[in-house]
Amino acid sequence: MAVVRTKAAKPLAAAAIAQLEADGVATLIGTVVNAAGLTHAKTVPLRRMGAFADPGLGASPVWHAFAIDQAGIVFSDAISPVGDQRIRIDLSALRILGDGLAWAPGAFFNQDGSPDPYCSRGALSRVEDKLTEAGIDTVVGHEIEFLLVGPDGGRLPSHLWAQYGLAGVLEYEGFVRDVTDAATGSGLAIEQFHPEYGCNQFEISLPPQSPVAAADALVLTRIIIGRVARRYGMRVSLSPVPFAGSVGSGSHQHFSMKRGDTPLFSDGTGVNGMTPEGESAVAGLIAGLPEAQGVLAGSIISGLRMQPGHWSGAYVCWGTENREAAVRYLIGGPSNPLGANVEVKVIDSSANPYFATAAVLGLALNGIERGLTLPQETTVDPATLNDAQRDEAGIVQLRENQSDALDALDGSSLLREILGDQAVDSVVAVRRYEQQNFGDLSAEELTEKFRLAWSV
Ligand code: GLU
Ligand code: MG
Repeated sequence: MAVVRTKAAKPLAAAAIAQLEADGVATLIGTVVNAAGLTHAKTVPLRRMGAFADPGLGASPVWHAFAIDQAGIVFSDAISPVGDQRIRIDLSALRILGDGLAWAPGAFFNQDGSPDPYCSRGALSRVEDKLTEAGIDTVVGHEIEFLLVGPDGGRLPSHLWAQYGLAGVLEYEGFVRDVTDAATGSGLAIEQFHPEYGCNQFEISLPPQSPVAAADALVLTRIIIGRVARRYGMRVSLSPVPFAGSVGSGSHQHFSMKRGDTPLFSDGTGVNGMTPEGESAVAGLIAGLPEAQGVLAGSIISGLRMQPGHWSGAYVCWGTENREAAVRYLIGGPSNPLGANVEVKVIDSSANPYFATAAVLGLALNGIERGLTLPQETTVDPATLNDAQRDEAGIVQLRENQSDALDALDGSSLLREILGDQAVDSVVAVRRYEQQNFGDLSAEELTEKFRLAWSV
């Protein structure tokens, strides 16, 4: 078998290289995202493309434990200077970036070719496979909110800016146009791109696609906006709260599921036309959110955003088109041709998007497997309820305190089952490092220090 594959793969790679050369590609970038949400990269000249795909390029296991302060490594028994892994790019996901560059997402493997249990893309692949085995087709659509800042992270002028205002489009017209062009050139489909609420804040929405491909597309989006921003002497802040006391940036994820041709979130007999399985999927997600918070929005900055009134879903409940609920249900129908779906508002860009999707979908599948009952819908801003009413409805608030969120994740047998022990341990380790080293800083100091931490 192996011999046949090798023989077939070589001419394929040669043909692919020749085609890319003809397209002007000289350098290939491969990326991986680690437990702290940092995007790492290696590059090769085009002729080395085949080797980057298989057997892959070497990398120390410490990549999993790089911290957000540009220097920290969180060593443990498993993560030490000893050992070496392989990053393999997925050539089926390769995209041309322009200016002689191409990019492909990578995943970690051990030297014997087995998947690395710390790898986030691998973890999401496993969840995707489990859903497929359960007969459920799932698609995910990402949103990305970000702030344009100066090269040093400083605020850019915003004299002409209104919430979602046309002024923002015109002030940054070149940026908007070039991002759109670059996305088209790279085969990245943008659903919409608009100024957001905060000054110099924008949002891009991506269309639904299979879970791993969707997370790859989010990484590609970050690369594209990062490259174009540079062209205009700017940078993109992906920080959950770029400036203390100011607007936050989310990285919401939408998903929908089908069993065969039957959607789980519409055309059924349950609440809002959900099927019983659809209801259980949402129930599973809601039940697991407090334990998953450390994966979805677990950085030392995340708690500054995770507050009522910020549209970040600080209250664990669900509601139709309710933007203060952690889980927003979107109705299908003629006005929403993509169909009914569920949006998880909690997630921010400090999270590893592969782990975040794996956690969300793993919880939904768990809810289906256990036949969980959907809690009552929250039809108002949960902040307008009093404590007794929220208690009665079983609505809890997500933590603003990072340590509490991490303790819940660390102790979660459910998240450990979904993501694997190594994945949970690595997230907890890099996040506790943040708490231990920077937990005493003020909100102003924290936001200043980490404004560009997740930028690419
Ligand atoms: N910026 C908000 C957040 O931090 C989300 C606003 C919206 O719902 O689009 O998640
Ligand atoms: Mg938004």
